[in-house]
Amino acid sequence: MAKKISPLLVDLAALPPGFHRRRFARDGVGFEAFIWRGGPGPVLLVNGATHGDEYEGPTLLQQWVQRWKPRTLRGTVVLVPVLNEVAFFAGARCRPDDGANLARSFPGNRRGTPTSRLARLFNDELLAQATHYADFHSAGVANRLQPWVGYVVGIDQAMERTQHAMAACFDRFWCWSGPFLPGRTLSAAAERRIPAIYTECRGEGDVEPADLAALDLGLRRMLITLGLVPGAKPKLRPQVTRITRNTKETHLQIHHQAEFDGLFIPQIKLGARVRRGAPLGQLVSLTGHPSIIRAEHAGRIVVLRVQRSVRKGDALAVLSPV
Ligand SMILES: [Zn+2]
Repeated sequence: MAKKISPLLVDLAALPPGFHRRRFARDGVGFEAFIWRGGPGPVLLVNGATHGDEYEGPTLLQQWVQRWKPRTLRGTVVLVPVLNEVAFFAGARCRPDDGANLARSFPGNRRGTPTSRLARLFNDELLAQATHYADFHSAGVANRLQPWVGYVVGIDQAMERTQHAMAACFDRFWCWSGPFLPGRTLSAAAERRIPAIYTECRGEGDVEPADLAALDLGLRRMLITLGLVPGAKPKLRPQVTRITRNTKETHLQIHHQAEFDGLFIPQIKLGARVRRGAPLGQLVSLTGHPSIIRAEHAGRIVVLRVQRSVRKGDALAVLSPV
């Protein structure tokens, strides 16, 4: 007997041309989506707040919801300003009830934790209908970073070329791309061979106007580059680019991890170049035990912890060879 396929909650291809708001909800989880439908063509899906304490994506996408009125649109644009609503209202990276990281929960499971169910909902209902995808992240409240754009390499060359063209639209950011890491929105996209990029903005719980402008420009250019809206091919600045085949390099949470709970006192600035072994800061336990955090290798500090209270295992800094 043929396997029963459940119908889509919202079949994008069946929507009439125009602007639509839809709530996607199932299995006790959900999110709001804003859809501009312009007939046959590419389907670009963009979301913010995969992590709840990242505000650049939600801010930019809500501005688009308020203001964007395309005169011509070939294809469909779907914006989800806040994907992880419970984490967003908790002001936290992950939702507090299950503590699971949505960016490690893809493709998700309908009978799993709420976070896993949310991943499944987004994966089945929107990613499955997209031809192109972008996930707008940031350093969150606890960290600050040097904004970049990236994508998954080593899966499919044609997909990679498209991703490169999408990433190049965000030319005020540098580009840092690496191999497939499981559980991400981008890994779910890669499994479907959907060209996808992610951006990382400064974070620190704020929204830097320069980052917002860079995201805005990048999104406008991406729409032109993918043929969704007409326009002259954008003139792009060359990007500092680092493409690695090392799965550890772009896995941000495994570098310079705190060995114990304590107070972190950084001794370097974001953007600084350091040698291997250089002191990055000091970690002091509440019982007064100090430890020096030393650079794992030479490079530039591209992520730095700003929240000084840290738990064992928290990443305190990330270096890139660029
Ligand atoms: Zn994030």
